[in-house]
Amino acid sequence: MQIAFIGLGNMGGPMAANLLKAGHQVTVFDLVRANMDSLEGEGAKAAASAAVAAKDAEVVVSMLPAGKHVRELYLGEYGLRDVLNANSLVIDSSTIDADSARQVGRGLAEKNIEFVDAPVSGGVAGAKAGTLTFIVGGSDSQFAHARPVLEAMGKNIFHAGEHGAGQIAKICNNMLLSVLMAGTSEALKLGIDNGLDPKVLSEIMLQSSGCNWTLQKYNPCPGVMESVPSSNGYQGGFMVDLMRKDLGLALETALKSHSSTPMGSMAQSLYAIHSLKGYGKQDFSSIFEMFVKNDKQ
Ligand code: NAD
Repeated sequence: MQIAFIGLGNMGGPMAANLLKAGHQVTVFDLVRANMDSLEGEGAKAAASAAVAAKDAEVVVSMLPAGKHVRELYLGEYGLRDVLNANSLVIDSSTIDADSARQVGRGLAEKNIEFVDAPVSGGVAGAKAGTLTFIVGGSDSQFAHARPVLEAMGKNIFHAGEHGAGQIAKICNNMLLSVLMAGTSEALKLGIDNGLDPKVLSEIMLQSSGCNWTLQKYNPCPGVMESVPSSNGYQGGFMVDLMRKDLGLALETALKSHSSTPMGSMAQSLYAIHSLKGYGKQDFSSIFEMFVKNDKQ
């Protein structure tokens, strides 16, 4: 298939690489030239703009920071809506607000372009390994259209409902993840402050009722687990500021539906303080450092 991939950051880069490995012809575009260079080395064609990348594409996949970038890419002044052929398919895998996803879906439908919101879970490791979970919003036929492309990048592919449903499911998941990460960091630090080895404590909690994904795959304490951001100076992975964005989306959604989300509100405050302390561009597991005692104590 002829695929255009827009947004080659921590997630988009390895996802595009997996489409190439699956034998698709991939044309890429990112505002940062260096992000295209590495994919060119793997067989992608680099384009001078998103519009050039999308011309003649059967499928466009985007992996951008937030709703405004996605709306601009498809519906803006030079939007891809005016470039893509009818019956082509747009898969937006960015985590954005559900209203933006629905707006993009409606705007593309006016030109008979198919759309699914398909945010992902599984992090950079899942993107590299091609084992992402995709959470898809769209009609049954749009889901079926997108599925073979998603299978080249992921393992579990869920149909959550109509446009926007993928995004709602995704922010519910990430709100829970933020709570688990902050809680796991707090528990590990309590153990360390009381003489426990974090590796031993992690092993105990993994086999006990506190077991959760952050302990299994993404331990926040440096040195406990290899090949995770905490053992690499909290570089790479999922930025604190992106988690803040997702928590903002979760709380806005809760406001609209009159849902009560006290744990999500607490996590949002913790991540906001953490970002203001200079951790915004570091991985979200760096929240562990919020619990580390300073020299004055
Ligand atoms: P990132 O900041 O590493 O990558 C975003 C990329 O988009 C950058 O390379 C940037 O240059 C590019 N970009 C921005 N605007 C552009 C435009 N108009 N045209 C072309 N390129 C543009 O972010 P990421 O970690 O790859 O995350 C991307 C999305 O995936 C976000 O919505 C995030 O919430 C979501 N997500 C991230 C993770 C993770 O673990 N990193 C996991 C799940 C979901």
